[in-house]
Amino acid sequence: RYAYVNGRYVEHREASVHIEDRGYQLADGVYEVVGVRDGKLIDEKPHIDRLDRSLKELRIDWPVSRNTLGFIIRELMRKNRLRDGLVYMQVTRGVSRRDHGFPTTPVKPALVLTTKATKHIVADAGSGVAVKSMPDIRWERCDIKTVALLPNVLAKQAAREAGAYEAWLLDDKGCITEGASTNAWIVTQDGELVTRQTDNGILSGITRSSLKTICNSLQLKLVERPFSLEEAKKAKEAFITSATSFVTPVVKIDGEKVGDGKVGATARRLREEYVRFSEAGEAV
Ligand code: PLP
Repeated sequence: RYAYVNGRYVEHREASVHIEDRGYQLADGVYEVVGVRDGKLIDEKPHIDRLDRSLKELRIDWPVSRNTLGFIIRELMRKNRLRDGLVYMQVTRGVSRRDHGFPTTPVKPALVLTTKATKHIVADAGSGVAVKSMPDIRWERCDIKTVALLPNVLAKQAAREAGAYEAWLLDDKGCITEGASTNAWIVTQDGELVTRQTDNGILSGITRSSLKTICNSLQLKLVERPFSLEEAKKAKEAFITSATSFVTPVVKIDGEKVGDGKVGATARRLREEYVRFSEAGEAV
């Protein structure tokens, strides 16, 4: 299996970057994860648009042209015979002697890509997952998809140690911002879909955005607003979205059942619809 590192396709086990890469020392970089299903990239354009935005927010230049990146993604998928899985891409500010400020002489941003094969995602949602709530201790620019993920790492680990699949992060008002690597949704007892509005407090998920379109086409009522942990625990249904988890029902919050503790009809339906949508993705 291959990785792409700054212009070369190299054996994954031999792939390496410089010790003075600013991503390694300072988390000075951004990334994207794009899902692949049946050899097709899911939502490629919005992911690359978000990468562009993240780079601009941090004033990091594009390491290659957008077209070239599209080519590299496809070439790596081809070399790795990727049918189902994920493409990871990361851009860091580059290699420079350690100093917090940006390099004073321009350096070329570093580009790394890897792929990961996963099992073929199916429409069947299984039995759902558990989430555990905890304080959101991240910074005020959660809208940027940076590799500075330590709070997310600690949250995910705390969730796993509690036997949960995902962490639900709480702001200082007791409202759920999002998961450690997913967006959070509930279905109220009135059948209204609720997910938090996007601003600097959360990552604007590409799956979230595609699912919004799907909800509209199904004429489901969706409201973007904050919702509290209390409200989530009393909800009829809950679920999470991400490129990795698609639409995954949440059946337990902090050990308490959501609704009857079984996968709800809305989450089940939306997962099916999203899987159908992903099959119509762009052929490589
Ligand atoms: N929120 C956070 C913090 C994430 O890291 C991610 C994905 O990695 C998401 C939400 C979901 O975003 P997407 O649907 O674009 O994968």
